[in-house]
Amino acid sequence: MTSLLALTRPDLFQTQNFIAGAWVDSTAHYPVVNPATGALLAQVARAGATETQAAIAAAQQALPGWRRTLAKERGTVLRRWSALMLAHCDDLAALLTAEQGKPLAEARGEVAYAASFLEWFAEEGRRVYGEVVPPHKLGARVVVTKEPVGVVAAITPWNFPLAMVTRKVGAALAAGCSMVLKPSEETPLSAFALAVLGQEAGVPAGVFNVVSGDAPAIGDAVMQSDVVRKVSFTGSTRVGKLLMRQASDTLKRVSLELGGNAPFIVFDDADVDAAVVGAMASKFRNAGQTCVCVNRFFIQDGIYDRFMERFAVAVRALKVGEGTAPGSDIGPLINTTALQKVERHVQDAIALGANLIVGGESHALGGTFYQPTLLTNANVQMQLAQEETFGPVAACFRFKTEDEVLALANDTPFGLSAYFYSRDLARVWDFAERLQVGMVGVNEGMISTEVAPFGGVKESGFGREGSSHGLDDYLSLKYMLVGGLRTGG
Ligand code: NAP
Repeated sequence: MTSLLALTRPDLFQTQNFIAGAWVDSTAHYPVVNPATGALLAQVARAGATETQAAIAAAQQALPGWRRTLAKERGTVLRRWSALMLAHCDDLAALLTAEQGKPLAEARGEVAYAASFLEWFAEEGRRVYGEVVPPHKLGARVVVTKEPVGVVAAITPWNFPLAMVTRKVGAALAAGCSMVLKPSEETPLSAFALAVLGQEAGVPAGVFNVVSGDAPAIGDAVMQSDVVRKVSFTGSTRVGKLLMRQASDTLKRVSLELGGNAPFIVFDDADVDAAVVGAMASKFRNAGQTCVCVNRFFIQDGIYDRFMERFAVAVRALKVGEGTAPGSDIGPLINTTALQKVERHVQDAIALGANLIVGGESHALGGTFYQPTLLTNANVQMQLAQEETFGPVAACFRFKTEDEVLALANDTPFGLSAYFYSRDLARVWDFAERLQVGMVGVNEGMISTEVAPFGGVKESGFGREGSSHGLDDYLSLKYMLVGGLRTGG
């Protein structure tokens, strides 16, 4: 099938599974549509257990050669892959916006963010140092080395179709592992394009494989395989828990980047303009469909009116439109299930006493477009306080004291990210330490970067991606005790 998109590199548009360096069709196919228009983008080969087993076998076969490669050579391949992503940024962004819906400017930003993980791990892979430990007895040496865990499976969501992949594959390949990737069936085209560029960069056949299609069948094949030694998953807490249960049969290592319920707290002493900028960035990026998106705004009494007035102006100014339309800030939601969840949360909040300040309905553009929405007088009984809304809805609570807001912020099973605005240095350290999350933005609404460890606590999962810690999940320690040596002088 040829692409309707005008790509500079038409070969970046692929619709089949990528196994052992070749494009492999399936007997069944499924449609991938543009969420902004409902238009058919591609009929994609639908992988199931058979294709997944073939991909696992290819990764197993490719593993010995890849893990033997010098770290420097693996780094060279990853750096080339990163550079190719940047060189083809416009094509990758066009594919991403077409299948995911985010504005083109955000899609370009994601391409750069995604490429940064390949570059980062190209460098980190050369610093997988071991240890020489003072021995516990004479005539012995104790040495600790780090080895790749082996064949890895990655399962990724639709909200960042490139970046969620590269922050796994960059680390895995740098560590010397081979990989089978299952992207979301909503957004496989970005992952396939990534595979094209990976091959061009010199990733050997079988080191990176992509299968897309029947999620439970692919998931079962991966989880039942004793060849796959680790699974790295980004997605919902529900599926993360399922995979962790399934991993117990073969005792696979698991890392889980799951959902959040981020609080955004504005204290009386905050810089109100900076807080509004941070609120807009952390709430409305990707139409509110990021795991680190603010889900609950807590505003202190003394600053409440000033903040809400400016926040409402900024929310009203957001422009909803197709990702390809110039000036669009908010694209469509990914599908009708997502739209229905947003509608349910807003209606439930209004029924329980929330005041509607901006939006509150589907957008006139129809489809899955929803108006940027601002609600005040939110309370903890509302569904939007309990679970991720994953849409362009800002729900605001009013609070009086620091202890009160700390208890509210931590009153959730999730613990991914939190944000707060304050200019009181003493409070900044203490409050950040008492938040039960993996990441804190202090006077800052955008926290994601390849240089810092990304991940959560509680039911937001475990494991860290990016940073110098991002390699750890793909490495095993091996300790060698060499005995019978001379004791020396
Ligand atoms: P999801 O439904 O859990 O899907 C994530 C991935 O799991 C998709 O590839 C999906 O495949 C696959 N999957 C579904 N059922 C499966 C099964 N039985 N076995 C194996 N794989 C299965 O999550 P989503 O709705 O796509 O993504 C949104 C969620 O991801 C939100 O909760 C968000 O907070 C979270 N997220 C977390 C982070 C983080 O770093 N913590 C980052 C981004 C997103 P199909 O799509 O093909 O069904």
